[in-house]
This record gives sequence, structure tokens and C-alpha cells, in this order.
Amino acid sequence: MKILLLAEHDNQTLSPHTARALTAARQIGGEVHLLVAGQGCGHVAEAAARLSGVAKVLHADAPALAHQLAELLSELIVSVADGYDTLLAPATSTGKNVMPRVAALLDLMQVSDIIAVDGPNSFRRPIYAGNAIEHVETSGKQVITVRTTAFVPADTEGAAPIEQISVPDLASPAEWIEDITVTTERPELTSAKRVVSGGRSLGSKEKFDAVILPLADALGAAVGASRDAVDEGFAPNDWQVGQTGKTVAPELYIACGISGAIQHVAGIKDAKVIVAINSDPEAPIFKLADYALVGDLFELVPELTRAVSK
Ligand SMILES: Cc1cc2nc3c(=O)[nH]c(=O)nc-3n(C[C@H](O)[C@H](O)[C@H](O)COP(=O)(O)OP(=O)(O)OC[C@H]3O[C@@H](n4cnc5c(N)ncnc54)[C@H](O)[C@@H]3O)c2cc1C
Repeated sequence: MKILLLAEHDNQTLSPHTARALTAARQIGGEVHLLVAGQGCGHVAEAAARLSGVAKVLHADAPALAHQLAELLSELIVSVADGYDTLLAPATSTGKNVMPRVAALLDLMQVSDIIAVDGPNSFRRPIYAGNAIEHVETSGKQVITVRTTAFVPADTEGAAPIEQISVPDLASPAEWIEDITVTTERPELTSAKRVVSGGRSLGSKEKFDAVILPLADALGAAVGASRDAVDEGFAPNDWQVGQTGKTVAPELYIACGISGAIQHVAGIKDAKVIVAINSDPEAPIFKLADYALVGDLFELVPELTRAVSK
């Protein structure tokens, strides 16, 4: 079995999702190659080569790949796909954009969001917002995305060779215009060790900021939100946690005034310790929570913030 894993990076730094997806690739078994595609991303290729279990890093460096447009990355992957039985990527925004295109170009059906590897062609993945686990068996070449929170990161004791690969003429109807990135001192939501999330009950953006952010800052936590809080404009879209938002797996998840709808819970199932603060003792979130604080979040959250700050 030969496996090609698409490395995720921003031309400067290798994303931690890659080391986790690598663990899934190694469990599939066989020779794992990492594809680092971008522009001026030599440092990333070197970091990728240090990941344990990588047999070779393929380094594709070209101006066309500077912004890693999915249309171009998928063409590049297809150009080298003949040599591989399995094509794999983390199920992040990038992986979810690139791999379905690869699958379509190769006329294959993608296996999305795997959470466990039972054999070289046998996987488990969540369905119905995580309420059931589907066992999938494949035959022949396979295209897979990996839910990285379900796998521990590979360590960094490797020393794989780096091979420069030529980049074919890539053309895309899509054009990169600009990257709009929000700079924040807070940890990144999907890899944060602690997350504080707020729900619709916060009532306004001002209250969300006044109640949730101080607790997050006191804990050094990332901030998350329910979809209803995002839809109401209390929190930006990229803070949404859940089925149609981000999947998180922190050591501590604090849900403030969030009911615990299945679509929200789908995004927090891998959290180690869940603390729920809700005024309704029957709220569904309490079925999942390790610690339940029943009461008014406008009293309890500031009290918790004061206690943590001490
Ligand atoms: C296809 C689909 C995809 C979806 N994807 C997502 C998703 O990715 N993420 C997501 O979050 N949702 C998602 N949803 C929406 C989801 O079904 C719920 O509507 C949403 O999660 C509810 O948000 P909430 O808990 O903030 O609000 P509510 O359900 O309105 O809950 C508010 C909670 O706050 C409590 N409360 C009220 N006042 C206070 C107070 N003063 N102190 C303490 N507690 C208080 C209430 O008891 C209640 O439990 C999706 C829905 C669909 C149909």
C-alpha cells in the first residue's frame, strides 16, 4: 500500500492537523509520502520530513501554488495519483475543499471524516451528526479525509528524504484575490486546549463580549459559539462549533447558555472535560457534561472568571 498525505500549511508553518492525519495514514499501513505544495515552503517540507513514519516528502514549489487554490492542488494530486493506492488529507477547510475534487477527477467515491482505521480498506466515520457510526469498506484506490481530533499526532523523530517534484502547467478558472485573516492573541479554535463557548441566551454581541471573552482570556482559551449565537450576530462565523461549524477536542470545553442540540454536540464529542452552565436543569447539554452548573450564566460566568483570575 502506498499512501499520499496532503500536508496542510501556510507556506511558513506545518499545521498540527498533518501530524494527526499522519497517524491515521500509518494505521492504514504501508509507505506514507507527504505532499508539501506551495510557494517558498521549503521550511514546511523540512518540518514534514521530521514527522515520524514518513518515507518521503514530495515538495512541489511553484508560484501557481502560492495560495493553494483547491482547483490547482487537486490537479497536482491527480498528476501524481497513479503511484498511490490511498490519497489522504485532514478534514479541514482545505482538505474538504481539495479532496472531493480529487475524488471526482479520479471518478472515485470519497470516504469522508474517518475517526478510526480498522484495516487498510476499512474505516469508521460519524453519520447523522455523530449519532451513529458507519463502518465503510472500500476496494481499489481510495480518497479519504481524516477527522484529526480522533487521532494523536505523530511525533517528530523522523528524517525522511525530500524530493522536489515538477509542477505541471496548472490552470484554474478560480483566481486568488486576497486572504482576510483575523489576527488574535487567542489560541486557534480547532487545536485549542481550552474552549469557552456561548449560546443564543447571551442576548447580544455586547453581552457575549462582556461575559464570555473575560473567562476565555482568564483561561487562555479559544472562544466558540453555537450556531444560533452566530446567526444572531453575537459571534463571527468562524467561531461556530458543531456539525456545520468546527469540530473541537480540547481538554476543557465550557458551554455557557448552550442547550446541547445534537448539531452542537457533534462538534464537541471528543472534548475531554465538558462543563455546562445552563439555567434549565433539563437542558440536553447536561446529559453530556462532566460538570453541570445550573443557574444564570450572567451570575455564574463572571463568578467563575473572578475565581480563575485569582
Ligand atoms: C442542519 C443543521 C445544522 C446545524 N449546525 C449547527 C452547528 O454546527 N452548531 C450549532 O451550535 N448548532 C447547529 N445547528 C442549530 C442547532 O440545532 C441549535 O438550534 C443550536 O445549537 C441552538 O443554539 P443555542 O444552544 O445557543 O440556543 P437554544 O437552543 O436557544 O439554547 C439556549 C439555552 O440557553 C439556556 N439559557 C437561557 N438563558 C440562560 C441564562 N440566563 N443562563 C444560563 N442559561 C440560559 C436555555 O435554557 C437554553 O438551554 C444546526 C441545525 C441544523 C438544522
